[in-house]
Amino acid sequence: MGLSPNARLDIHDLADHLGTKVVSAERLIAVDRLEELERMQAFAFSAATFNVHSKAYIVTNPLRTAGRLASDVAHELSHLLLKHDLTEVREVGGVPFRTCQPEEEEQATAMGGTLMLPRPLLITAVSQGMSPEQIAATYNVTTEMARFRYNTTGVAKQFSRRSG
Ligand SMILES: [Zn+2]
Repeated sequence: MGLSPNARLDIHDLADHLGTKVVSAERLIAVDRLEELERMQAFAFSAATFNVHSKAYIVTNPLRTAGRLASDVAHELSHLLLKHDLTEVREVGGVPFRTCQPEEEEQATAMGGTLMLPRPLLITAVSQGMSPEQIAATYNVTTEMARFRYNTTGVAKQFSRRSG
């Protein structure tokens, strides 16, 4: 995509780049049905990928915040990039959903976080004095993800050593 290592990645640009279409579930089903599912089991449905005529469609949940939605798309795109198979079947409210192996779920979450907040980007942001909360707001991710990446990439340690 021609981006520098510390550049912000618009997750929808990556979806376009990979020939994937992102569709909000409210275009397919009434929002009150989604709210009903959310009441049955919170966060049961975040995003899902469907292959239709060999094109991947990522269906997202409109009830999520923008940051969470971007993370969900990054997670789904990571499954595609890592060529994961949808093998396991899980039931949510009596509806079967195909999902990946637990270790593949972890990989997709880790890679999704890396796509949204690569280490060089974090270093640039933190060296400009940004806190994880400011990084979350600036780069359209959840505060949880910004804190997670800030800590697990070693950037927090690297900068606390310098100032201390
Ligand atoms: Zn997944």
